[in-house]
Amino acid sequence: MQNLPALLLFCGVVCSAYPVDRAAEDENNNMELTQQYLENYYNLGKDVKPFVRRRDSGPVVEKIREMQKFLGLEVTGKVDSDTLAMMRRPRCGVPDVGDFTTFPGMPKWRKTHLTYRIMNYTPDLPRDAVDSAIEKALNVWKEVTPLTFSRTDEGEADIKISFAVRDHGDFNPFDGPGNVLGHAYPPGPGIYGDAHFDDDEQWTSDTSGTNLFLVAAHELGHSLGLFHSADPSALMYPVYNVLADLARFHLSQDDVNGIQSLYGGPPSDSSNDPVVPTESVPPGPGTPAACDPTLSFDAISTLRGEFLFFKDRHFWRKSLRTLEPGFYLISSFWPSLPSGLDAAYEETSKDIVFIFKGNQFWAMRGTEVQAGYPKGIHTLGFPPTVKKIDAAVFDKEKKKTYFFVGDKYWRFDEKRQSMEPGFPKQIAEDFPGVDSKVDAAFEAFGFYYFFNGSSQLEFDPNAKKVTHVLKSNSWLNC
Ligand code: ZN
Ligand code: CA
Repeated sequence: MQNLPALLLFCGVVCSAYPVDRAAEDENNNMELTQQYLENYYNLGKDVKPFVRRRDSGPVVEKIREMQKFLGLEVTGKVDSDTLAMMRRPRCGVPDVGDFTTFPGMPKWRKTHLTYRIMNYTPDLPRDAVDSAIEKALNVWKEVTPLTFSRTDEGEADIKISFAVRDHGDFNPFDGPGNVLGHAYPPGPGIYGDAHFDDDEQWTSDTSGTNLFLVAAHELGHSLGLFHSADPSALMYPVYNVLADLARFHLSQDDVNGIQSLYGGPPSDSSNDPVVPTESVPPGPGTPAACDPTLSFDAISTLRGEFLFFKDRHFWRKSLRTLEPGFYLISSFWPSLPSGLDAAYEETSKDIVFIFKGNQFWAMRGTEVQAGYPKGIHTLGFPPTVKKIDAAVFDKEKKKTYFFVGDKYWRFDEKRQSMEPGFPKQIAEDFPGVDSKVDAAFEAFGFYYFFNGSSQLEFDPNAKKVTHVLKSNSWLNC
């Protein structure tokens, strides 16, 4: 056995000296790939003989048809080029049909508060980028269920998250770069509920490599008890769907139905429910159109996991669980607010959205204006020369708020409730690539999104660079 690599090398040299039937070799490889794929993901018995060519029935052909149907391919029962291309795409290691593990896991958690622990880190990303991707991934499910999650750094946890290569002690070894990206176990004790990520992949925060947030959101769906979906728009579709921009990420109705069939919807407790206005307004003359290519925004804020895009008297409200944003009058949420806002941000730890217009600002919890507001912006520590704020964004991790005014920015310490010394600074210096005035800004998935007119910059605060240039209305499914 020890001579094997040398023998292979030797063979490589010798064999290449002889003409090989390339077509037959490809055919063999394709059959092997198909056999493997069906064994791994479609419960094809390992004792079933590789299928004989030119046969259009039998267990293998039946399995090919089953796979094609599940993955949304044309059902031909043949290993055609579309089927081959699909089988070569990166995907989740959990089967589409049949049991993943020898022992059946429990179908769902019998409690709504779950603990998770990040056991180790990939060298591909800074630790806080991993923490943030996992937290966002859990939030995707938290938003549509009564489930809550807390992180622990020691001892047992319901969901243990780890990065590993090849054999990693669970009889489901990873396979090197590509193909299988991760797998996870259904709810239950011990290894059940755990999610493993193949560290032979290049994990990234953006979509230049394999996006950790997207794969984690999928795998954690398994940790919560979901199986694969045959709906190609679902997060739980088994094949990795790279999104050109993460702004387009949302759960499909199929994902929401699946998880809610296990746990029900989010609690209706008003303190954690998104505020629901009476009715959305139909777009019409005099109202801004979401897909107008020249659309710009006055201000943008998050609100309890949703995004609010303000424009004149209206705003769009975008939830990650729905494709279509809602469109509302500002006055239907907050009757006392003016229109044509300047800036807005959510201080998530206080559950307050701060809204700015001119030299005044308001604090809202849900639909309620807090007592004592509006206040003057100068109470925050701005000099008298500042007449209005252009944009504001809250950094959840550091509990600091960035205020953008012209080509400068200030930083406000929310814990100390004071403006930090040494400001203002030049925006272009600390946010390279963000060269113009900022109309609106917000934070999502660990990125800052800066808006100027009809264009939008995705900025990675860790790498300190612009990672994408997008249309301003890309969040509104245009
Ligand atoms: Zn999966
Ligand atoms: Ca892999």
